[in-house]
Amino acid sequence: MTPLFPALTEHPADRPALRFGERSLTYAQLAAAAGALTGRIGGAARVAVWATPTLETAVAVTAALLAGVPAVPLNPKSGPKELGHVLSDSAPGLVLAAPDDELPAALADLPRVDVDVHGSGPVPEDHGRDEDPALIVYTSGTTGPPKGAVIPRRAIASTLDALADAWQWSGDDVLVHGLPLFHVHGLVLGTLGPLRRGGSVRHLGRFTTQGVARELTSGATMLFGVPTMYHRIAEAVTGDPELVKALTGARLLVSGSAALPVHDHGRIATATGRRVIERYGMTETLMNTSVRADGEARPGTVGVPLPGVELRLAEDDGSEVAAYDGETVGEIQVRGPNLFTEYLNRPGATAAAFTADGFFRTGDMAVRDPDGYVRIVGRKATDLIKSGGYKIGAGEIENALLEHPGVREAAVTGEPDPDLGERIVAWIVPDDPQAPPALEELADHVAERLAPHKRPRVVHHLDALPRNDMGKIMKRALTHG
Ligand code: ATP
Ligand code: MG
Repeated sequence: MTPLFPALTEHPADRPALRFGERSLTYAQLAAAAGALTGRIGGAARVAVWATPTLETAVAVTAALLAGVPAVPLNPKSGPKELGHVLSDSAPGLVLAAPDDELPAALADLPRVDVDVHGSGPVPEDHGRDEDPALIVYTSGTTGPPKGAVIPRRAIASTLDALADAWQWSGDDVLVHGLPLFHVHGLVLGTLGPLRRGGSVRHLGRFTTQGVARELTSGATMLFGVPTMYHRIAEAVTGDPELVKALTGARLLVSGSAALPVHDHGRIATATGRRVIERYGMTETLMNTSVRADGEARPGTVGVPLPGVELRLAEDDGSEVAAYDGETVGEIQVRGPNLFTEYLNRPGATAAAFTADGFFRTGDMAVRDPDGYVRIVGRKATDLIKSGGYKIGAGEIENALLEHPGVREAAVTGEPDPDLGERIVAWIVPDDPQAPPALEELADHVAERLAPHKRPRVVHHLDALPRNDMGKIMKRALTHG
């Protein structure tokens, strides 16, 4: 296999590679720093990385990939219980951290190697093989305890190359984002992606709309974000001509990790003339679909399968759905070089996740338009409500509720109902807490836009929705208190 990062040796020494806040590295400096580190981790079977949004994390992961040592990014914000689970599950031989990081007690017994971003060593040769495990990334824990997905080099290379094709992503692109580095969005796409292309990444440290505007007007060409970030952009654009100008000039605005509300998509498009493009992926599969840079950005859809990815929709009995007509709902199953190899230490869960013919069961439910566009309706476990003989996706009801002027945030779940099987429950963060929209009004609003059987039967008003560090709504926390 070709090296993961040809630019490390082929690029002019002074070409920018990484910038995190005020600190930056050129390709030559990155190669030297990674070279200095590979010698210190080469003996370990697996290394943990204290994955703060810093240069150190980017250097540590690059070095581990070059050394052929699987890296386990740790969420620095995880509590002792989750951290303990990840550490005992992944059993790393050492932990890589920035010199000034204070590590929690759970890491006290692990040998620590400080990352010197100005270290200097010979550029390591990349001898990695396609199927070698490269990263062990824990899922976001939206539906249960996080699972460690073993991601081979082949999956990283193929997903990044498929995105390059879909997005016309080149070494000339400069990416800006403020995503965490312990999930595949910020790490694989947002950090390894620019390095594989030979372009550069500017990390904001902390996401702000001002930071986005500043970077996009000073050379950055692409923005990656999660829906909560685009929501903040949608809220800010009306009063911020600088931000509008910056977004209008960007080459590509990409959203992923959760569904982008149609309402926010529309507000950004109206203010800037730009359509945010959505892609859909998972820790286990890296990226599956995307709107293409030269394709139509259809709001509410996640585009078409990426090159090399086979995608089908399946019924509960495993058969393929009868029609790709934009209406028939099935579970998304995918097969391709982008897939992980296994869940660490969970042979049962791994076996259950694959079909006999090697497709991965994503647990996401969708419809597909005749021309291939995929529209996710929600997760099988939490977002599919069986009510009055209908299968109803929470996503479209959430989208409809968000169009109501009195609604700031919305989540929809089902709860048992003696007549309907399940009834639709809306969890609302009102725009004005003093005057929350009443159930009757919200139900009529939904019924007018969708269909009468999609009206919520119960409404709860909240101050905020429970969200994880990617801004994903934790529906378990809603329904289980
Ligand atoms: P866990 O598997 O631990 O419950 P998780 O599924 O949220 O958590 P990730 O692997 O980080 O963990 O997220 C993948 C999921 O995110 C997908 O299965 C899908 O439900 C959701 N997702 C990602 N991108 C999109 C998108 N563009 N639109 C809708 N949902 C998306
Ligand atoms: Mg998942």
